[in-house]
Amino acid sequence: MTDYSTDVVVVGGGPAGCILSYLLARSGVKTTLVERQQTLNREFRGYGFRPPIPSLLAEMDLRDDIESLPHETIARGTLVAYGRSYPLFEFDNEQVILMKQPPLLRCVVSRAQKYDTFSFLNSTTVDGFLRDDGTISGVTATTRPSGERLTIRSRLVVGADGRYSTTRDAAKIDLQTKETGSEVVWFRLPRAAADLTTHLRIERDGVLAYSPLSDHESQYGLLIQEGTYPELRNRGIESFRSQVTGIEPRLADSVDQHLTSFDQCALLSVQSALAKRWVVDGLLLIGDAAHVASPIGAQGNNLAIQDAVIAHRILTPVLKQETASVSTGVLQRVERIRRPVIEEVIESQQLMGEGLARLLTIHDYLPQSFHAPVLRSGAALVSLATRFSRRTETGPEPPSVDRDLFVE
Ligand SMILES: Cc1cc2nc3c(=O)[nH]c(=O)nc-3n(C[C@H](O)[C@H](O)[C@H](O)COP(=O)(O)OP(=O)(O)OC[C@H]3O[C@@H](n4cnc5c(N)ncnc54)[C@H](O)[C@@H]3O)c2cc1C
Repeated sequence: MTDYSTDVVVVGGGPAGCILSYLLARSGVKTTLVERQQTLNREFRGYGFRPPIPSLLAEMDLRDDIESLPHETIARGTLVAYGRSYPLFEFDNEQVILMKQPPLLRCVVSRAQKYDTFSFLNSTTVDGFLRDDGTISGVTATTRPSGERLTIRSRLVVGADGRYSTTRDAAKIDLQTKETGSEVVWFRLPRAAADLTTHLRIERDGVLAYSPLSDHESQYGLLIQEGTYPELRNRGIESFRSQVTGIEPRLADSVDQHLTSFDQCALLSVQSALAKRWVVDGLLLIGDAAHVASPIGAQGNNLAIQDAVIAHRILTPVLKQETASVSTGVLQRVERIRRPVIEEVIESQQLMGEGLARLLTIHDYLPQSFHAPVLRSGAALVSLATRFSRRTETGPEPPSVDRDLFVE
């Protein structure tokens, strides 16, 4: 058993955990980031970093480093329904950065490693809490491959361990989940002829989501009715491939050559979720551990990074001044600022998810001749809902990084 001691343990090296750890460490707060994976590689996560994230990265002095890595930038995104385009988002002076999460996270962690106040424990899985008089005062964990047990004492634990959060479960915090009735089958292909600005395409054969990852690779997601994946698999990969190319014929060559097995696919339910509370004594949840926005709405990264920026602003002054644990009241200030914003985003995404799920069953209740006009009206509504949710996603006051807290 090895014992560590730190000010803050951040559990989970996703966008929320890496950014918060970097900001805290740079502000002179002793921070330990614990990640169960050996590397920061991850499959099938979000690769879109929409405004205000590029500006926030600039305020953190990370933007130049991140832009030196393979990435794309776009200023607008569209939804195409039966060949007609509808705007999903459009930025005048800002851009969306499209890039894979692993290089971005590696870059943030390596910048954090410049500070003596930062330590990173990878291949280490948190499995429980230490408690003093009922207040959480650290975590217990196991390191692979040695199986060594660790205890990490801290003044605060931040649970940034994603949608299946161990810290949330260990704190017995309920998650309120809303299903939309649909799931997404994700897969990757070398970047084909499909253009960068299309994010969603609705055609007679179904609904396809697009996410360019780099100049040579894209991620695609076929929307299906919940519970129908086994049926889809039974019909065979050939039928899946023709459904995809029926929606986007420009993918035909790429699909023929590269999509050969369902082993290349990952199934994800299109659901949103909100933890009943984000705080118990000694623990704060942020990012997907606290709230899951539908992947179709593509805002999870934004919300997670904004949580980190707000948490840094509120927690750092307390962590720098006192030696005791951080009071529940201070932690609740983070939740009070972020929860209303997240609730609005989740609500509008839920509407969009349910709308899309209904489109999937259109063949069951409408004759063929109605499909195009109905789907186009649906697309116009989804377009409106998404643009509305963009207006709400930062809340009334867009967050900014408190650079005065940095020690250098
Ligand atoms: C297919 C897909 C597409 C998406 N598309 C977009 C998009 O285009 N734009 C967008 O903004 N968002 C998108 N999202 C959502 C986005 O990826 C997430 O919202 C975002 O990654 C959440 O960040 P996070 O840091 O909160 O959690 P995560 O990224 O999930 O990171 C959590 C980390 O915690 C680690 N962990 C878990 N348990 C433990 C433990 N017990 N001990 C130690 N470590 C642990 C995990 O290994 C992981 O590294 C998408 C999601 C998916 C799945």
